[in-house]
Amino acid sequence: MADHMTRHVQNRIKIRCCYCGGLMVLSDKPPRKQPPNAETMEHLRRRSEGGRNNRDNIALACKRCNEERGGMDWLLYTTYRRGELWELIECASPCAPRRGP
Ligand SMILES: [Zn+2]
Repeated sequence: MADHMTRHVQNRIKIRCCYCGGLMVLSDKPPRKQPPNAETMEHLRRRSEGGRNNRDNIALACKRCNEERGGMDWLLYTTYRRGELWELIECASPCAPRRGP
């Protein structure tokens, strides 16, 4: 199958980012020119911290999340991206300001 047809089919699968849950697209462009929602290979445990290329350590993330996460722990970053961080802080600290009514 031609490459463009493969990409067309893959884009129809609608793969979501492991952090933010947003839909991703495949991009042939150089990394600097890829859109923020371009699909990238993500190491949950950073390679600089000893993370390997095994399947338990690999996930798919959008370019924005992959670049923004930096050295943050993957689970903490997921919580942050999904807007659940305040809920954790409120649960952990009775002195934390409460949101909402
Ligand atoms: Zn994302």
